[in-house]
Amino acid sequence: MPSESSIVAAIKRRATVAGWWVMKHHGSAYSLAGLPDLVMHKGGVTVYMEVKRPGGKPTPIQVRRMAELRERGGVPAFVVTSVEQAASLMHLYDPCDECRKEYSPVKTPRRGVECRKARP
Ligand SMILES: [Zn+2]
Repeated sequence: MPSESSIVAAIKRRATVAGWWVMKHHGSAYSLAGLPDLVMHKGGVTVYMEVKRPGGKPTPIQVRRMAELRERGGVPAFVVTSVEQAASLMHLYDPCDECRKEYSPVKTPRRGVECRKARP
């Protein structure tokens, strides 16, 4: 079974090749407890990933932190156990052109859409 750090490294490589900005968060006494392992940005989209070995489970504080990010931050936060899982999430939040055409605008609001409230 692959180590967690080797899965993290593989996800970072895959994400970087796909054009994502990726940061590995290293937990310490000075950082926010339970913050997911990876924060990824691309084109204004943010995705958090907590990486576990296959069969691994997040700790209660990790579960709580991910719930906070989703509910208060409105950003996706998932547990992943493989690079394939991470890649399919990257595709979901940054679909290829072919898939993007099929998505409804409700599911994926077009970027750069003008906000009426922002008008003077
Ligand atoms: Zn696609």
